[in-house]
Amino acid sequence: MFDASFLPKCMSVIFLEWRLLQQCLLKLRVRQGFSCYMHHIHTQTSSSGGGKHQCNPTVTVDSMHYLSILNSSTNLNTVKQLHALTLVTRYHRNVFLETKFVSKYAMFGCLESARLIFHKSYKPDVFLYNAMLIGLSRSGKPREIISLYYRMRKSNVQPDNFTFPAVLKACGEIRSLQDGKEIHYHVVKSGFELNLFVGAALIDMYVKCQSVEDARQVFENMPTRDVVLWTSLIVGYVQNGCANEGLQLFHQMRLGGVNPDSLTMASAISACAQLGGLKEGKRLHAFVIRNGFELDLSVGNSLVAMYAKCGSVDVAHQLFDMMPDRNEISWNAMIAGYAQNGHAKEALRIFSQMLEAHNIKPDLVTMVSVLPACSHLGAFQQGTWIHDYVIRSGFELNVSVATALIDMYAKCGSVGHARQVFDKMPKRDVVSWSAMISGYGMHGHGKDALSLFSRMQQTGMKPNDVTFISVLSACSHAGMLDEGWRYFSSMSQDYCIKPRGEHYSCMVDLLGRAGFLDEALDFINKMPLEPHVGVWGALLSACRIYRNIELGEVAARHLIEIDPGHSAYYVLLSNIYSAEGRWHDVAKVRSMMRDRGLKKTPGCSFIEVNAKVHAFLVGDRSHPQSEKIYSMLEVLSGQMAEAGYVPSTNFVLHDVEEEAKEHMLGTHSEKLAIIFGLISTNSGTPVRITKNLRVCGDCHNATRFISKIAKREIIVRDLNRFHHFKDGFCSCNDYW
Ligand code: ZN
Ligand code: ZN
Repeated sequence: MFDASFLPKCMSVIFLEWRLLQQCLLKLRVRQGFSCYMHHIHTQTSSSGGGKHQCNPTVTVDSMHYLSILNSSTNLNTVKQLHALTLVTRYHRNVFLETKFVSKYAMFGCLESARLIFHKSYKPDVFLYNAMLIGLSRSGKPREIISLYYRMRKSNVQPDNFTFPAVLKACGEIRSLQDGKEIHYHVVKSGFELNLFVGAALIDMYVKCQSVEDARQVFENMPTRDVVLWTSLIVGYVQNGCANEGLQLFHQMRLGGVNPDSLTMASAISACAQLGGLKEGKRLHAFVIRNGFELDLSVGNSLVAMYAKCGSVDVAHQLFDMMPDRNEISWNAMIAGYAQNGHAKEALRIFSQMLEAHNIKPDLVTMVSVLPACSHLGAFQQGTWIHDYVIRSGFELNVSVATALIDMYAKCGSVGHARQVFDKMPKRDVVSWSAMISGYGMHGHGKDALSLFSRMQQTGMKPNDVTFISVLSACSHAGMLDEGWRYFSSMSQDYCIKPRGEHYSCMVDLLGRAGFLDEALDFINKMPLEPHVGVWGALLSACRIYRNIELGEVAARHLIEIDPGHSAYYVLLSNIYSAEGRWHDVAKVRSMMRDRGLKKTPGCSFIEVNAKVHAFLVGDRSHPQSEKIYSMLEVLSGQMAEAGYVPSTNFVLHDVEEEAKEHMLGTHSEKLAIIFGLISTNSGTPVRITKNLRVCGDCHNATRFISKIAKREIIVRDLNRFHHFKDGFCSCNDYW
């Protein structure tokens, strides 16, 4: 029935959509009825209710008409018009229509309208509840879903196999194991526990609540298993760091004759990435190609990440280039792959390509992946640019990005900027505190590191083993032996943290630095665990500084025994011999290296000028400004000699003539980089250099002189720590 008397209440709704409403009415074929109504309104308003209504207002539109039009409606306006019309025709009390309207409004994101209909419903049934729950789920309102579910139970509406998945998903999203378990109990009581759809949702919920054991239990209890169910559990294992179990399950599934889908494949490949299992990963890649999964975006992304994590960055890049579509995840995987495999320059190159790519916007994961590349290269300007980008893009500075920024600023030589980021963090975790303490440590600011550590303790944040590495190495870089001992014993006594190899090597370094070489050896011999390379390496460095050949040999032989493929130890041993002129022994070490096919890692220094990183090798003449650099070197050498600098030739590995040695020292990579920095930056600005190896004694000495002559602050980061040269002095007090 078309009841005209109801209309004035709805006037405002209707006239807002006047034109569209007319079109809609055409569709409804109720034009005649509506014009009668309009005529009625018109006569009423023009003659103050005097005129008599002539036409028959009865129109045959039933709820099925509305439903069929609603089903096919693809825009919000149509839904609104139909809604207005049901108010007019009083069909709005129909629970089928209510359900449909709730679904449609939720689909278009009009949650308020959906809620309004739902709450005004006279007697909501399970379908209406489901429509509301699914609508809320679409809009990401997990808490509202759970409370609506409890309201549903209270009003004695029985949930069904569509209710449970929506509610379980919400429990997973807020990781509420307690609610999840209670709903699991309801599932069993309502007899839905064998439903595949509900089973997969239960597994997914337990996985998200990090309770993989419970997920497994649900899985085991299912009488039949489809690919969705298998995949839920495989994803669960892989996401919770149990890659082995995930892969085993994958093979079981295939043996059981269930074919994987693209999500199963992506998870199995991610499991290989976690395990570093390149061989298995390649087998899965072959399977992907045979079964036509290679065009799937998530499978492609997982393959790129797997090859990159397993060290095959070139293959990863080839796949990346071949991908028909790429999203942010693909780019992030490629950047992280390069950064983690030590190809920092490549990582930055891919990042700049990403910035130019169409329809791609770097996210916080990108920032966390690319910042370590800046740290590695000491690329201060690019790192600062990324920090600005994070602010400009309005990203909320989360803990991992802020911590990556702290690490970047500290490693790029600006501990002050690192501290600014640290102070601005609204929330800090133990990793951020440790990063800041470590930042102070590597710059030799021992006191700042320790005072920050005590502030951390005051705030109630519990330090972990990594924090103690930062604290102990801060003590060691600053030569604070007593404090070092105190913290070393405190970590096991007060915090029940068992010292690891890294903690022991900090202590050996502290003892060695203070010249207690025999005590250091004694300490190593009394260690409750097998000393690793860091421990012997620390002793070897001390022996090099204090010129103790005997102990140095002991340390170096241990190192070569533990890691015979690492050329640096042979070089250190050879350096110790050559410093004492024991050329016969030098030759023996060198032939040992040759026999084992080892080459000395070439020294390489980086400097960033105008946001571009320049790399220099020993005696490098490939740089476009080479001529200028070498003529400047000549001028400087003269000035340095006048100021009293004498080249110390015992840092050259080879047994060569003294004059030739001096020439080789003259062209060490760090000197070339420093001079390039001097000629290409404004006077007064600090020069920042990064070196891939430890800075040699002669370069260290020369840099002291250069800092004074050129009146520049020179900041050198070597493999071990930072050296701030100023006015002829270095912050490390010549011990490193
Ligand atoms: Zn050098
Ligand atoms: Zn130094």
